[in-house]
Amino acid sequence: MDSPLDDKAMLWKPLQNGKVHCRLCSHYCVIPDAQRGLCGVRENREGVLFTLVRDKVAALHLDPVEKKPLYHFYPGTKTLSLGTMGCNLSCSFCQNFSLSQPPRQGKAVMGERVTAGEIVDAAVHASASSISYTYSEPTIFFELVVDVAARAHERGLMNIIVSNGFQTRDCLEVWGPLIDAANIDLKAFTEDFYKNICGAGLKPVLDNLKTIHGLGWWLEVTTLIIPGLNDDPGELRAMAEFIHGELGPEVPWHLSRFHPSHAMNDRPPTPPETLRNAWEIGKQAGLHHVYVGNISGVAGEQTDCHECGTTLLRRSGFGVRNLALENGLCRNCGQKAEGRGMESISLEGRT
Ligand code: SF4
Repeated sequence: MDSPLDDKAMLWKPLQNGKVHCRLCSHYCVIPDAQRGLCGVRENREGVLFTLVRDKVAALHLDPVEKKPLYHFYPGTKTLSLGTMGCNLSCSFCQNFSLSQPPRQGKAVMGERVTAGEIVDAAVHASASSISYTYSEPTIFFELVVDVAARAHERGLMNIIVSNGFQTRDCLEVWGPLIDAANIDLKAFTEDFYKNICGAGLKPVLDNLKTIHGLGWWLEVTTLIIPGLNDDPGELRAMAEFIHGELGPEVPWHLSRFHPSHAMNDRPPTPPETLRNAWEIGKQAGLHHVYVGNISGVAGEQTDCHECGTTLLRRSGFGVRNLALENGLCRNCGQKAEGRGMESISLEGRT
């Protein structure tokens, strides 16, 4: 049993017979007394829902913002990234399963007690521009995000979530004014994939992508392309057309390479040719910015001006070089670069 210091959860309501109804993510768990929800980090104690991760930070690192990945949000800046254990999904290909899955299996919820104030102090001390809620799934450490993000804004820092997009609208409404940018997974474009591979559903994710875009956060989308599961050209085209039509051509799409992991060791890494084809599909759909990640030697890492095609930013690993972006404008045609804080990166050779 976790310490009695664990705190009361937000976004739930009591039901009859000591049960509670969690309204934090689209599983909408009904949890009997003395049991936990599907995520394993929200527990009903005598008719009251508690979070087990309010201040249990399991991972804390200073990262380039490009690592989230966010390529159009204050490029070249640092973000203090944190996560707790637990996740509301059970993706068999999870690359962070040692952090995300143990609570779902009834194992201990590990982490250090760090206060919101200490996290924000650490970000300021490290000269970070933002704090990122990432590594596992920020939805399930919602209360910690609310605490830290409010303090971060007071100190002039921005807030980023990296999420599977399976939260509720209630969750997004609370986060609305606190979050500045998001990278949301669009893992596939079929209900079957979400149900059978992730233990979730597609529709809430599509709805949330539209809601998030409407909230005015800077939004980028990531798809991990897994051979034989979501690499069908028709499915990729449907994803690209959804992003273009429902979110907007300026929303960047990151195509990430699969590596065998967790319970999915039965298939090879994504072939470079598949990633190249997916990149073409994104561009043909009219997306301005399509990126290929988790692989070297494949084009699709640089940011080009969507008006004249001039290469503005070139990336290597998580490093970024500014080739032609001056005060946020393309040096060749004067077009404003799409994103937020694009003026924050100085032109190569200037300070
Ligand atoms: S966050 Fe989601 S998975 Fe966890 S208890 Fe609430 S509804 Fe269930």
